[in-house]
Amino acid sequence: MDAPLNRNINNFSRIVIKIGSALLVDPDRNLRKTWLNSLIDDLASLVQSGKDVLIVSSGAIALGRSQLGSPQRHEQLKLEESQAAAAIGQIELSRAYNESLNRHQLSGGQILLTLGDTETRRRYLNARATINTLLHSSVIPIINENDSVATAEIRYGDNDRLAARVASMVNADLLILLSDIDGLYVQPPSINPNAKLLEEVESITAEIENMAGESTNQNSKGGMKTKIEAAKIATASGTTMVIGSGKPENPISKIVAGARSTWFAPSRNPVNDRKKWIAGGLDVAGLVAVDPGAIAALESGKSLLAAGVTQVTGNFFRGDTVEVVDSEGVRIGCGLIEYDSKDARKILGLQSTEIQQLLRQPIRSAMIHRDNLVLHP
Ligand code: GLU
Repeated sequence: MDAPLNRNINNFSRIVIKIGSALLVDPDRNLRKTWLNSLIDDLASLVQSGKDVLIVSSGAIALGRSQLGSPQRHEQLKLEESQAAAAIGQIELSRAYNESLNRHQLSGGQILLTLGDTETRRRYLNARATINTLLHSSVIPIINENDSVATAEIRYGDNDRLAARVASMVNADLLILLSDIDGLYVQPPSINPNAKLLEEVESITAEIENMAGESTNQNSKGGMKTKIEAAKIATASGTTMVIGSGKPENPISKIVAGARSTWFAPSRNPVNDRKKWIAGGLDVAGLVAVDPGAIAALESGKSLLAAGVTQVTGNFFRGDTVEVVDSEGVRIGCGLIEYDSKDARKILGLQSTEIQQLLRQPIRSAMIHRDNLVLHP
């Protein structure tokens, strides 16, 4: 029998709270101030009890779009319109948080991230240092995607995965996703209103992934799917994750006091800092398929050699994150590749001496070095 999951808030010291647009912004696109104040009251008591708290907040686009004029209420925005809406809404969002925090003599620091800030190692370390400096100065980081500059190719698109990436980045031990739904149901309640809610998820199996439906609220980008993706990133880093309802006032106190919610257990073998970053990679550039001999070698802690690679898919550069899959395409792990895709395709299946002759350059010790490889993230 597995040990029961730790749900006692006193045992967590660094908490990331993700707030969905539908909670912050009403259908008329007004900010729900009373609700926000109740959330910040909860957050302030966590801070008072000595915890570090970070906010990842959506809502910029939902708030800003009403000032855009032309687009109708329910229309899908074009990319440039949502970028402009975010520029307008983000100011209002930050101001609202700060006003609410000020009631408790707290203040917030705004951080807007793009995909590159978490997927490029140097920028990742930089963003992490900034966030840690805010926390050391007792300022609450208020984080969102930098939607005004993010284009389709370089955006997360949802704050669920962004929040998980942030939680992993700052070594948070708890991530709370506040949503308009109170947890993961075995079937989407929109399809089956009697579906059962799962209170605890020990590990994210294919069955769990299949339980997620699509988002139905046009104000929010993520659905249950992106929340499960977030759970994978967070739990692999050793972070406990909760999906709970943000609808009532004081939602955090309610979840902490035992309101219905789904808790995802952290991995029992969380990987080290560098591997955490690799495992949470959102920008997978390609795939390498490997043979059974290579899988056995990887499982015993070895690096991935070109000789064990059977197929290379995608266009990538040295240092990019690629997925390692078996012959059936099942994901075994991911890692930072040592070769550009062009060379990787040339040398797959070859031994070191053959590679040296073919590429006429000093060869790297492996296709993916074991220090840059994470299995079963
Ligand atoms: N970053 C978007 C915003 O602030 C929201 C993304 C999401 O809803 O997950 O409007």
